[in-house]
Amino acid sequence: MRIDVLTLFPELIEPALAAGVLGRAIANALLTVSLVNPRDFTADRHKTVDDAPYGGGAGMVMKCEPLFAAVESLIGRNSLEHVVLLSPRGDRLDQNMVREMATWPDMVLICARYEGVDERVSRSLVTHEVSIGDYVLSGGEVPAMVLIESVSRMVPGVVGRWESVETDSYFCGVLGPPQYTRPPSFRSLDVPDVLLGGDHAAIRRFRRKEALRITRMRRPDLLAHLTEKEDLQLLAEIENETRLPIKENES
Ligand code: SAM
Repeated sequence: MRIDVLTLFPELIEPALAAGVLGRAIANALLTVSLVNPRDFTADRHKTVDDAPYGGGAGMVMKCEPLFAAVESLIGRNSLEHVVLLSPRGDRLDQNMVREMATWPDMVLICARYEGVDERVSRSLVTHEVSIGDYVLSGGEVPAMVLIESVSRMVPGVVGRWESVETDSYFCGVLGPPQYTRPPSFRSLDVPDVLLGGDHAAIRRFRRKEALRITRMRRPDLLAHLTEKEDLQLLAEIENETRLPIKENES
C-alpha cells in the first residue's frame, strides 16, 4: 500500500513513521509513506500557502494552487482514486471504514491547517472527507496518523500475528476481553483460574464471554449485530448471572 501525505508539518509525522509496528511495516516495504509539503509547490518568494477568507472573518484558508499542484505532482506514482481530506465535517472513521480503506492500493491524505482548505479543493480534488471524532484539532497531522495506524494494521503481514488483529475490539464485532500477565496474584488481586490452566477451549469461551460482558456494559449497541449461536448463549448466561434475585414477598 502506498500513502502520500500532504502536510505543512512533515516533522510532526516523521517520528511516528519510524517507530513500532508502523516503522517495521515501512522497513519491510509492506507500506510506503511519503510526505509532500504544499509549500514546495508555491510560486512566490514567501512560499505562501494561505490567505484571508473572502467575506472576512477570523483565521486563514489554505489556498487552492499549492494543494492542486502538490496532488498533481503525484500523477504516475499514485492513482489519485482516493484523495482523502482530514476534516471535522467528514464521515466519522470507524473499523468498517478502516477495513474498506485497507483494500485500496494507494491513497493521498491532505492534512489541513488554519481554518481548513478552500472549498474548491474539497469539491474537485478530494474524493473522501474523514473525521476522527466530534472535536477540533489544530491540524490534520494527528488524524492522518490515526488513519495510517489503523489502516496499516489491516494490511497482511503488518501485525506479526493475524490472530491479534482478529481478537481486537471492533474487528471481532465486540470490545476486546480483559488481559492478564504474570504474576498470578498481585496485592490480593488474582488472575482468573481458567487462564492459569491449559484448557484452550475453556480459555477461548471465557475470553469471549468476558468480551461480551464488557460490551454489554459499555457498548450494548454492538450486541445487536451478533448472530452466532455461541454468542447468544453466552449472553443469555450473562443475563441470568446479572439478574437480581427476586425477594420472597415480591413473587
Ligand atoms: N474551522 C474548521 C472547522 O470548524 O471545521 C476547523 C479547522 S481545524 C483548526 C484545522 C484542520 O485540522 C482541519 O481542516 C482538519 O484538516 C484538521 N482537523 C481538525 N479536527 C479534525 C478532526 N476531528 N478530524 C479530522 N481532521 C481534523
